[in-house]
Amino acid sequence: MTKMKLLSLLLILPLTAARCSGMDTYNTMIIGDMPTAEGGVTVTWLGTAGIHITDGRTGFLIDPYVSRFGMARVFFGRPLEPKKELIRQWTEKLGKAEIQAIIVSHSHFDHSVDAPFFAREAGAPLVGTESTLNIGRGAGLREDELNLVSPGQAITIGHFTIRFIESAHGPVFGKVPYPGAIGRPLAQPARAKDYRLGGVFGVLISHPAGTILHHGSAGFIPGMYQGVRADIVLLGIAGRGDTEKYLEEVPLRVKAKTVIPVHIDNFFKPIGEGMSFLPASINFNEFCEAAGRYRSDFTVRTLPLARSVRILPVNGR
Ligand SMILES: [Zn+2]
Repeated sequence: MTKMKLLSLLLILPLTAARCSGMDTYNTMIIGDMPTAEGGVTVTWLGTAGIHITDGRTGFLIDPYVSRFGMARVFFGRPLEPKKELIRQWTEKLGKAEIQAIIVSHSHFDHSVDAPFFAREAGAPLVGTESTLNIGRGAGLREDELNLVSPGQAITIGHFTIRFIESAHGPVFGKVPYPGAIGRPLAQPARAKDYRLGGVFGVLISHPAGTILHHGSAGFIPGMYQGVRADIVLLGIAGRGDTEKYLEEVPLRVKAKTVIPVHIDNFFKPIGEGMSFLPASINFNEFCEAAGRYRSDFTVRTLPLARSVRILPVNGR
């Protein structure tokens, strides 16, 4: 290699690295603290696809999972006993009054195991597929605490309209884990493999301040978002297949201006240990490289773990 070539390489490398170097890049993309001004929509990311969304008057949870069992417990099929005290603390922290529904986008344990207990703690309904409702029944929720939703259906919570769009689960190491449905009330504590997939939803959240699409699992049905528009996509990226195709079918299809990757963290560790990537299935650099090709279409931003930030200003589009 000539000196000149070496010099140009040394000059280019830091730029490439600065654009996309894993956790450093993640940290530089974090959306700032919530301004003191009121209004708009704020979110608190709980790790995985778990998120609390509120406009200060009305709020709800999607896929809250704070118990975060260790890898050995999950993969050796030990019982997953939700950490009820932690769920109580999180319910208090987020504000019981601003949790008016617990929505589950599919029934795998890392989206659903804590959901019935958040529902009970907040006094809010559990919303999802029949499989999700069977998790609620097994946890002791009454029928009037369960809200079955089907693809194409919408519910209203305060100023939010929430629409459920049929989606598909992404492959993990080549196949969809724990397929099938939960056909009867799931006795708990249960094992990870008992939390069968059920249906999968993209959740479209419309509010006067703007529209957010929660796409929690990195699969899709081609054309599922035809005609749908969203300002922001919360995009699950763990276990995605072809990143390019995924971007085309989700954020580009809905003409999003902001893409926020979720389901990116190591959810086998407690939230208190801070943000680190899920081992072996994130490849954040590759995601950034692919997303970077569409920088004229959308910007990639990231969320702090377990801290409230405003993502939609009122009339801010
Ligand atoms: Zn899943």
